[in-house]
This record gives sequence, C-alpha cells and structure tokens, in this order.
Amino acid sequence: MKRRAGPDGMHFFDRRTGLNVLFDEVDVPETQWARAPRQVSIALTNACDLACPFCYAPKTAAVLDADRLCAWIDELDAEGCLGIGFGGGEPTLYRRLPQVSRHAAERTSLAVTMTTHAHRLTPQLIDALAGALNFVRVSVDGVGATYEEQRGRPFTELVQRLTCIGQTFRFGLNCVVNTQTLPDLDAVADLAASTGATELLLLPERPASGRPGSSPHTVAALHQWITNYPGPVALTLGEGDTGSLPTAQPFPRERGLRTYAHIDAAGTLRRTSYHSAGEPVDDRGVLAALDRLQQKDVA
Ligand code: SF4
Repeated sequence: MKRRAGPDGMHFFDRRTGLNVLFDEVDVPETQWARAPRQVSIALTNACDLACPFCYAPKTAAVLDADRLCAWIDELDAEGCLGIGFGGGEPTLYRRLPQVSRHAAERTSLAVTMTTHAHRLTPQLIDALAGALNFVRVSVDGVGATYEEQRGRPFTELVQRLTCIGQTFRFGLNCVVNTQTLPDLDAVADLAASTGATELLLLPERPASGRPGSSPHTVAALHQWITNYPGPVALTLGEGDTGSLPTAQPFPRERGLRTYAHIDAAGTLRRTSYHSAGEPVDDRGVLAALDRLQQKDVA
C-alpha cells in the first residue's frame, strides 16, 4: 500500500483494489505533508478521432514527450501523489501509451487510470496495457440512438468493447448529463451493472463550443435521479457538481492544488482542465510549476 501524509492524517491506498484507509487520529507535522497533489490528470494528446458536440478538449495540436512525461511521473510518485489519470483528447491515440503506462506501473507505486471512448481498445491494445492500468473509465453518454447521436459511433460496438475491457480491467462508465442523455440514465446504469462496471461517474455538461452546458433544471433532475437510484453500481459526481446532495468529505483539510491538478497536452499545469491559467512544466519539474501556480493565486 502507498502511504501519504497530510493535514488530515496518514492515508494508505492500495492501487490494485482502490482501497483507501485514513488514520485521521495521526497528527502529521506540516513539514512531512506530501507536496504533490493527491491525484493528477494528464492529457497525453489533444488528438481525437471523434467529434462529440459537447467536447471541451483543446483543438490545437499538442502531444506530450514520453521521456519528459516519465520523469514527471517519477517526481509525482516520489512526492506523495497517489494516482495519475491519462486522458486527452483520446489517450489511445498516444503512440507510447503502453510504454508510459508500464513505466508508471513497474517503476512507481502510482495508480494509473485512463479515460477513453474505448473504440480503439482492440484486443491487441488491451493485451499491451494489461497489468499496466489499474482502472479504465469509458465514456458512455446514453444508450442506443442517444449514444450514437452524441458520439457518432455504433452503440453495439461500444458494448462489445465493454465486454472485452471487463475481462482485463476494473472499469467504470462516465456519462455526460444533458437534456439528451438525462432520459437514458436508467439504461446507462443498467448497462453499467450488466457489463460489470464498478462505478458510474455522472458529469453535467460544461459550457463549451458555444453550448451553454447543463441547465439548472437538468442538474436538479439529475440530483433527483441520484436520490431515487436503487442500483448496485456506485455513483460518483465531480466535487463541484454535488449541490445539496449529502456527500462525505474524507479529507476536509486537504484543499486546492494539494488534492488535484491537471497537466495539459502542451505540458502546462492547471488547477483543472477547465481553468485557463497555468504554469508550464519545464526542466525544474512538476512541483516547481505547482509552487509557481500557487504563488500566482496568492498574489
Ligand atoms: S471522445 Fe472525448 S476528446 Fe474526443 S471529441 Fe469526444 S469528448 Fe472530445
């Protein structure tokens, strides 16, 4: 298990099972707190072969250098980060995805996850990634014709991919929630349960590409659906999307850049992928960029 010291106590994390144990009675001096964020998402490339109407990924061409990326991964691991999440664009279009994932799996104790549309996860690529990814998040926005309208790919092909993915990886579904996908939530939850997904992440659509994002009415309907949800698959929501729903806050004292940061495909560190302000990660490394970003916010 990996150990992380912080303002809330001593945190142990098992990347194989996803088990978290926090000893909050342990008072850790500030000088010993982990310096890296608990979780870092990394956009490997801006390239994508789909054209989803709600996509907020940057459309400028950018891709991370694999050797620099491996050095950043090592640094994050050494500084107490628990997990990295590969995304994009579409991470399966990143040529060195298997090598970089394997580096993280074999040379560090970080949990490695990936968010993908799954249509390029062939049996060959699944074999190349087996044992190197701890969790796979598959974007599934609605079912049947709704999915095909949002993603422009055959829904039957997606279901076949989910079956293959489930034979090798622990996985969850990500669902963008908007007026089109809201009526399909029951069916998406059924799909998650029937394919063996362990988690359903619900993502109200963000304003992007001239679209306004989910309306307050849609978000209220989503919260109502969550309140009435009887299914077996765990539901998750982003930190800013919970509204008045009752949620647990396991790390109340660990905030901001200590919890999460994002590195985009141009190598810029940001608070999240939605934030425009950032600091380039240069030869001084990720933690130095993190410090500069933090100072910028204070100034
Ligand atoms: S699959 Fe993801 S990155 Fe690609 S267009 Fe859709 S939302 Fe954007």
